[in-house]
Amino acid sequence: MSDNSVLIVGSVALDTVETPHGKVERALGGAAVYSSVAASFFTPVRVVGVVGEDFPKEHLDFLASRKIDTKGIQTIPGGKTFHWAGSYEGDMNQANTKLTELNVFQSFSPELPQDYRTSKYVFLANIDPELQLKVLDQVPDAKLVACDTMNFWISSKKDSLLEVLKRVDIVFINDAEVRQLTGIVNITRAASEIHKLGPKYVVVKKGEHGAVMYCGESICFAAASYPLTEVADPTGAGDSFAGGFMGYLASTGEVSDMNIRNAVIYGSTLASYNVQDFSLGMFKRLTKDQINQRYNEFRQIVHFEPMA
Ligand code: AMP
Repeated sequence: MSDNSVLIVGSVALDTVETPHGKVERALGGAAVYSSVAASFFTPVRVVGVVGEDFPKEHLDFLASRKIDTKGIQTIPGGKTFHWAGSYEGDMNQANTKLTELNVFQSFSPELPQDYRTSKYVFLANIDPELQLKVLDQVPDAKLVACDTMNFWISSKKDSLLEVLKRVDIVFINDAEVRQLTGIVNITRAASEIHKLGPKYVVVKKGEHGAVMYCGESICFAAASYPLTEVADPTGAGDSFAGGFMGYLASTGEVSDMNIRNAVIYGSTLASYNVQDFSLGMFKRLTKDQINQRYNEFRQIVHFEPMA
């Protein structure tokens, strides 16, 4: 039987977030959480992470109520969960990080449950690149590996991040991070440099301006972002994009240039829904029908044909 599960490692967090539309304190968040829930709309997910004793049981129950295997999430007795605090202003394209408390992630060394080790689809969501490498070492049969990162790790753990990049097929990265990683302002040239570091596909997320996929020195696909009239909270947009992308690809089992375009659109669809509410609010009520409806609207937005 083919295994279409996606293995995801990344932060499992309590987030304090403020936007012009409101504020939440210590709400469910984390890169692994957003991406796992997004992927679970398409395919079973195995998640690897760590939380402290303060992590509400209802959050673990919510994840388990989806197609998400949570036995890879360790709970550390007496430990404190990863906590991120950030805010957004103006066009909300960039988070201002106010606080990053790694807490239980500081001494975490992932040991994958036996049945996770045969995973074919792996997403290394945002977390210390050293942990991403430890997970990668335990999935020898991986057929497609993608990773994400952020400014915090580019400045503090660049060498390990370069090791990760050597070993992945796809990197999801936003435009500011592309520039920070390469020191090159022009995104096309910078993406081409990142391609040389390892990944076959470099997917550059541009917030409200959509996502552009580079293969080598040229763009191989570009997607507009969904025209929302109001964004409540952009937190987790990138993770939802990556989770939707990987979940869809794994569910089809087909990793071709053409199908990866569909994955970009499903990723954009999940990201656009996620930002309509704080924390996991929107994903808790989202249906597969709504996902398919927006995917079809995307098809309309980008469709064109030459005049006869
Ligand atoms: P994004 O998709 O980039 O908006 O990701 C937002 C999520 O990233 C939040 O839920 C945070 O908990 C998480 N996060 C913030 N900083 C870090 C970090 N340094 N490492 C891992 N996850 C982080």
